[in-house]
Amino acid sequence: MIKLKSHVSGAWHEGLGETTTLLNPATEELLAETSTDGIDFKGALEFARDVGGPALRSMTFAERGACLRSIYDVLYAHREELLDLSVSNGGNTRNDAKFDVDGANYTLLAYASYGKKLGDRKLLVDGDSERLIRNPRYAGKHILTPLRGAAVHINAYNFPAWGFMEKAAVALLAGMPVITKPATSTALLAYRMMQLLVDADVLPDGALSFIAGSTGDLLHHLGPQDVLAFTGSGDTAKRLRSLDAHVQSSMRINVEADSLNAAVLGPDVAPGSEAWQQMIRDIATDVRQKAGQKCTAIRRVLVPPERREACIESLEDQLDQFIVGNPADASVRVGPLVNGAQLEDVREGLKALETESTRIMGDAEPTGLRGTENGRGYFVTPFLFDCEDADAAHIVHTREVFGPAVTVMAYRSVEEAAAICARGDGALVSSVYSNDRRFGREMLLALAPFHGRLTLGGDKVASFAPGPGAVLPAMVHGGPGRAGGGEELGGLRGLSFYLQRTAVQGYQPLLEKFFPGAD
Ligand code: NAP
Repeated sequence: MIKLKSHVSGAWHEGLGETTTLLNPATEELLAETSTDGIDFKGALEFARDVGGPALRSMTFAERGACLRSIYDVLYAHREELLDLSVSNGGNTRNDAKFDVDGANYTLLAYASYGKKLGDRKLLVDGDSERLIRNPRYAGKHILTPLRGAAVHINAYNFPAWGFMEKAAVALLAGMPVITKPATSTALLAYRMMQLLVDADVLPDGALSFIAGSTGDLLHHLGPQDVLAFTGSGDTAKRLRSLDAHVQSSMRINVEADSLNAAVLGPDVAPGSEAWQQMIRDIATDVRQKAGQKCTAIRRVLVPPERREACIESLEDQLDQFIVGNPADASVRVGPLVNGAQLEDVREGLKALETESTRIMGDAEPTGLRGTENGRGYFVTPFLFDCEDADAAHIVHTREVFGPAVTVMAYRSVEEAAAICARGDGALVSSVYSNDRRFGREMLLALAPFHGRLTLGGDKVASFAPGPGAVLPAMVHGGPGRAGGGEELGGLRGLSFYLQRTAVQGYQPLLEKFFPGAD
């Protein structure tokens, strides 16, 4: 069995004492163990700040972008090995594994290219010179410089590769050293990525540190120049928001949390049309992919009353085709949930959903699945619910069941659909499917305040649009309220979290000389 180590203060460190185990969730085979007891996290933080920070800040954006390109080259060269780890430790089918691993690589390439475009400069200028008084020779500019602390990244279990890189690429390009921590249960993939990067020596010392397991007392040593970017459950987010560094010293925290995303079908879309097929495909993908363990997955489907039956039939047809089982078997389309705790949580959630909706399909205790031994592994089959009264229902709008489940419900007007979506208290992404321009626009505007991202489907894009579940580096990822209130990616927008925006006022020609142009 592999014993994971943490890479901090420029070296690998093995924790002492009791270990946490990492399993194959399809077979319950033990794969690795880890502990971080005894690791000097205060020293790790200081090393990142004092060694990694200055090294990154001495580099231009183009140089930092080149580092990201080197990270991509190393990871891409080991893609097959990384995909295998994602299948064994993550319970992912090969396609689900690609979604994570290739997503990480694609994001790295995107940020490498932003770095190249920003070129030989070390700071960013935000906007044009501002005229402040009658005399134009006194003016103001806004500049953005990297914070002097470390960026601590805590990731969820479902995207160990993409979660690692969608955060690290942005922070490193901004010029902040990173201390990253994957969720322990699926850390094997991120651990191997870190080993490859250390061996390839693609980053300056201290620029990237890795914690394999608990963060120990690390978070208690954070200060006002550090930042914390977290992805995971709302409950953990609440705990992190009570950290002294945040409450007392205004240390920045970005949270990416739960979400009850919706798909809304326009009244103009007929069953069988391209837009219809697009919606059914997007929903089925979100139920299947990573066994529904995706923060962007569609959980609620809103259709006009006269389309409810057809929608349920189409979805049932699609979901019924998915083979559930051990993802090591190439025919399997839906793998297991990540661990026993998650299985229990999902089973409870499914029971709760069933108290107010009719279960059309789904088995929470399946047996005889492909490639599995009975009683082994953490499986449920895809669940489809029909909610007859969306207004009266409560659980479907408030409980994120992090598994392969979706609920169909009816709406009667744009206002009602928006109100139903809003009962999720803020979401990462929802999708609207319509060819009616007026409906599409009204729906997008009604949903926008409650969402970080919206996608508009329809006949014109049905054959090539990625589903709403795909988070693209050029677009903002995050959402208000329950979704955490955070914002990541969005091209260069993502850099702001790691940069201090400073307003500088003075003699205009001098400011222009110091900080030319606008980026
Ligand atoms: P979680 O239990 O909150 O864990 C998330 C991360 O926080 C893990 O790395 C975990 O480490 C760490 N953690 C837990 N307690 C901590 C503490 N007191 N101090 C420091 N770190 C702590 O969430 P999860 O079960 O991994 O992920 C599922 C949830 O994440 C779902 O609700 C999903 O919607 C959300 N999610 C959101 C997004 C998004 O982008 N918005 C993306 C993916 C997932 P250990 O593993 O070592 O406990």
